[in-house]
Amino acid sequence: MDKFKFTEKLKELETRGKTVVELYNEISALAMECGLEGDKPCQGRNAYYLSMEFLIGRSFYNNLLELGVLEETREILAKKGLDINVFEEIEDAALGNGGLGRLAACFLDSAAGLGLPLHGYGIRYKYGLFKQAIENGFQVELPDDWQRFGDPWSIRREDEKRLIEFADMKVYAVPYDMPVFGKKINRLRLFQAEGSEEAEKISEYLYPADDTEEGKILRLRQEYFFSAAAVGELLDGFVKQHGKNFDKFPDYNVIQLNDTHPVIAIAEFIRLLTNNYRMPFANALSLAKRTFAYTNHTILPEALECWSEEYVKKILPDIADIMVRIGVYAMREYQTLGCSKEQAAEMAIYSGGRFYMANLAVYVAKTVNGVAALHTEILKSNLFATAHKFYPNKLQNKTNGITHRRWLELCNRELSLLLDKTIGVKWRSDITDLDRLNGFTDDTVKEFIQVKQIKKEQLLKYIAQKEGVDIPADFLVFAQVKRLHEYKRQLMTAFAVLELYYGIKSGRLKDIAPSVFIFGAKSAPAYKRAKAIIKFINEIAKKINSDEQTCNKLKVVFVQNYNVSYAEKIVAGTDVSLQVSTAGLEASGTGNMKFMMNGAVTCGTMDGANIEIVEKAGKENNYIFGATVEELIKLKEEGYVPNLYLSDADHKRAVESLIDGTFSDEGTGEFKELYDSLTTGANWHSPDNYFVLFDLDSYVKTLVKVCEDYSDKKEFAKKQLINTANSAYFSSDRTIKEYAEDIWKI
Ligand SMILES: *Cc1c(COP(=O)(O)O)cnc(C)c1O
Repeated sequence: MDKFKFTEKLKELETRGKTVVELYNEISALAMECGLEGDKPCQGRNAYYLSMEFLIGRSFYNNLLELGVLEETREILAKKGLDINVFEEIEDAALGNGGLGRLAACFLDSAAGLGLPLHGYGIRYKYGLFKQAIENGFQVELPDDWQRFGDPWSIRREDEKRLIEFADMKVYAVPYDMPVFGKKINRLRLFQAEGSEEAEKISEYLYPADDTEEGKILRLRQEYFFSAAAVGELLDGFVKQHGKNFDKFPDYNVIQLNDTHPVIAIAEFIRLLTNNYRMPFANALSLAKRTFAYTNHTILPEALECWSEEYVKKILPDIADIMVRIGVYAMREYQTLGCSKEQAAEMAIYSGGRFYMANLAVYVAKTVNGVAALHTEILKSNLFATAHKFYPNKLQNKTNGITHRRWLELCNRELSLLLDKTIGVKWRSDITDLDRLNGFTDDTVKEFIQVKQIKKEQLLKYIAQKEGVDIPADFLVFAQVKRLHEYKRQLMTAFAVLELYYGIKSGRLKDIAPSVFIFGAKSAPAYKRAKAIIKFINEIAKKINSDEQTCNKLKVVFVQNYNVSYAEKIVAGTDVSLQVSTAGLEASGTGNMKFMMNGAVTCGTMDGANIEIVEKAGKENNYIFGATVEELIKLKEEGYVPNLYLSDADHKRAVESLIDGTFSDEGTGEFKELYDSLTTGANWHSPDNYFVLFDLDSYVKTLVKVCEDYSDKKEFAKKQLINTANSAYFSSDRTIKEYAEDIWKI
């Protein structure tokens, strides 16, 4: 990066009379020009990250930070009378749904930051995940046309487009390259589908509804589209550089499959080698085994894709044949290894007219990794237990991480400056240096309290503007922000808040700190219960916020359109991070790490990376409650009867508010359905299958304890600061180093 050239040109830039969007495009273009100077393609061995989602958020501030010119830009613009924050008008590129997509973005950031050659491949969706508005308490989905601000951080590569063939249509995959700046410039290549109106649909929406045959086929097309484009150009690129001695391909390339969405890349890889390069099938398969690695992100059965053979045959007949053949090879291998019939059936790739993509990935991939210690243990003992038995070296753990550049340096400048002052600036380039914050003095605690207060005020001011809810700046701030899902148990928090409210109102809860509960979450458009939970939380907020008797003690707000940029504000201004998933179901979580790094205590269950968080920062500095995985297993064996837990009058009152007329679902019947899901179950699950009622009691007690503890502000701040001081482990720099050493060998 030619910093001098950038700052000189920026000083010359005429800003008067230009709109924010115009300035955004001009400054970004200038940064691109200077940033890309001297950029060369990566020689040698490279790793590629195939992912359906890259939830990158805003690029502007992050890229200026990575290019080392953020502060200079801030100053130069200030001299021109411009606040750099005006560019917050530019909305996020939300090309992802949640944690999985954000992880992909953090990984690219860390690899570039560390100077490791990791490149991303995905889809350039015309519309990101929908924009959420809340109307009358209900989620409303609006199209997210992120490109209307321009896309100055991408370069279209018309000359590198590829033709992707389906049985019924041909589609161009046109690459758009986004540089990932750091110690090294890596590349995120997103493909846009072109050629016809039908073709364009492939890169139109992220996760279009797939409850119809048409929807399912479109999803399959999307997965094949970017996987095939990526694998195709990697093979062609190899031939150009090294000729057709493919035996060396795995020496130069390693392909990481982010979840099951891109697993079809394995079949395409074999198809290209056998069809275009006449390689025998067995050789192509063994080459695939040396090239691919797979990350599992969830044990929820609905997320482990299995494709109906009928659909695959319809649009990708060759791929269907190849997956059948891989299945045959796998079966033979399982037999040789001494698997029983049942064991082989469990690991089957093709069975009963379906393709099991996770099994395909586990069979072919050279490594399979879980995303937190507990999750990997569950994979070993449960989901992939049989595979683990016969391939004992395949499974490994790579606990997720978050880039401390975006999630601390960028989102919390005040805390970053305090760290500089306390331990020096080295932590910015080597996050392990953050450990030195342990042993902080009382003065640092005092300054930390001030920083937290500033970030809280900024957050609450923003919320007042955006959501129209005023929250006093001396409130204790709780936040539960993440996708809406029953297993994440926002409903349990809603009940707990309601109990706090009744407790305060009746005078039973006297000495607790005034508190606000911030919720933020999008629900999948077709997920009825999740949408009902959003409505329920908003009804609760309406009631509590308008009660003059309690509103100086308790507030609730559901923020609209939770996304990366909102997250940056929330994680910095929050005191207590709510991470309350049913034990065993949140594979890792990364939101929990962002909060920890910014000095929030975790109030949560022993699940996912929460376990490792409290291992690092101490149980005594966090608030752990609820059933453990082992306890839940036992409970299920004994026969869990949720209604027993409704004998407590307070819990009963909170839960029955769903049906006793306290709140209105506007006659949709959705609250009753939620109530039934807890008390009687449904034809696809037993009552309260996420153990909301079982953990509610300990949850409420823990929240009360947090509120009581907060009265000693200094002791509470110490706990928070200890969390920051021990968060280095959760930087994705650490995660990426582990992938680079153990899996990618880059
Ligand atoms: C970090 C992040 C997530 C993941 O949050 P979890 O609590 O780990 O589920 C989801 N969405 C956004 C916008 C994020 O920044």
